[in-house]
Amino acid sequence: MGLIVQKFGGTSVGSPEKIISAAKRAAEEKQKGNQVVVVVSAMGKSTDELVSLASSISSKPSRREMDMLLTTGEQVTISLFSMALHELGHDAVSFTGWQAGIQTESVHGNARITNIDAEQIQAQLENDHIVIVAGFQGADERGSITTLGRGGSDTTAVALAAALKADKCDIYTDVTGVYTTDPRFVKDARKLEAISYDEMLELANLGAGVLHPRAVEFAKNYQVPLEVRSSTARENGTLIEEEARMEENLIVRGIAFEDQVTRVTLRGLPNKLSNLSNVFTELAKNGVNVDIIIQSLTEGYTSSLSFTVNTSYLEDAMDVLNSQKKKLGFEKIESEKKLAKVSIVGSGMVSNPGVAAEMFEVLAEEGILIKMVSTSEIKVSAVVSQEHMVKAVEALHEAFELSKKGAAVS
Ligand code: ADP
Ligand code: ASP
Ligand code: MG
Repeated sequence: MGLIVQKFGGTSVGSPEKIISAAKRAAEEKQKGNQVVVVVSAMGKSTDELVSLASSISSKPSRREMDMLLTTGEQVTISLFSMALHELGHDAVSFTGWQAGIQTESVHGNARITNIDAEQIQAQLENDHIVIVAGFQGADERGSITTLGRGGSDTTAVALAAALKADKCDIYTDVTGVYTTDPRFVKDARKLEAISYDEMLELANLGAGVLHPRAVEFAKNYQVPLEVRSSTARENGTLIEEEARMEENLIVRGIAFEDQVTRVTLRGLPNKLSNLSNVFTELAKNGVNVDIIIQSLTEGYTSSLSFTVNTSYLEDAMDVLNSQKKKLGFEKIESEKKLAKVSIVGSGMVSNPGVAAEMFEVLAEEGILIKMVSTSEIKVSAVVSQEHMVKAVEALHEAFELSKKGAAVS
């Protein structure tokens, strides 16, 4: 007998019929003799609907109240899911995140899980119940309700799998696995049989929305066997596992992209040693997340500094920097919106120095101007204009032969 954690995303529980068919999947695992914990998201697009409901009342709603509001979405699903299991003749009980013992830091909107006290869940599993847990939510030390960031139900599932020492965590979703790139944008995208934790972590952090990055972090840190699979098609999904067990080291395993990128440039910054730390300390203090940074010291006594932020942070970044203009000493500030970041990821890159050059060549051939670049051992990212994003992804997908199985093995 094993312990399985299943997670069903929004689309997979988007209607009563879908909830019933997901409940049947949970019942199947139970009938095989396993203990089953199910983590669910809010139905369909209901989290988006709650967000727009709030915006019809306030343009800057309190983060605490947003968490209070958004957590109701998942609570609708847990109760319905549990009822569906009752109808199928199973004992089932639903828990909110805090009832399930999920403790988080005291941050609204994007809290990290700090501890899981799984006693209640354990007791119900031993009582032969299927346990349904609301994804994406927890509570801080004082009992304030928090959320884990958009897409955070994946993280609830993997964190519970780690805490319960589950044998497996299955992420059921609306695609049949992790693809070489988002199949909604590139029709030649190919489903991967397996991908390493590190590659998946890069892809998730670089915009591949199929898994929440923190879910992958948990899976890696606690060695949780993870599979992304379809909630409707009956076929194997994609295994996310340690590299050592994977049969081949692809130079490029996948391509991720995101389109809400803005570049901020400070011109005429005095060349002081403390410049960079001053600018980024101010931004960090105000919760502005910065991504790619480029500093250029070639302008005599002044330098210019560019960095990218998610477009949703632009206003905050500008406010912070403008309010500190005197202290920081820059001459002017510029921003360029409508940018996108396209990234190639693969663990075989470490031993293949020409990969970045090949990427630049492909983009140049397509007439796509690269505005910024960032690299790590297993990824190369290029910032391009938003209108070129999909073309860039398609060209790279083709050039690195990602639609062919086993292409470009290092
Ligand atoms: P869920 O509601 O089940 O959590 P999401 O919408 O969060 O589902 O994630 C699934 C979506 O992720 C897919 O529909 C797909 O468009 C997108 N996606 C982005 N990158 C990839 C990728 N590399 N492989 C598969 N799906 C991807
Ligand atoms: N319902 C939340 C969202 O839409 C969490 C999730 O689905 O993972 O972001
Ligand atoms: Mg998701």
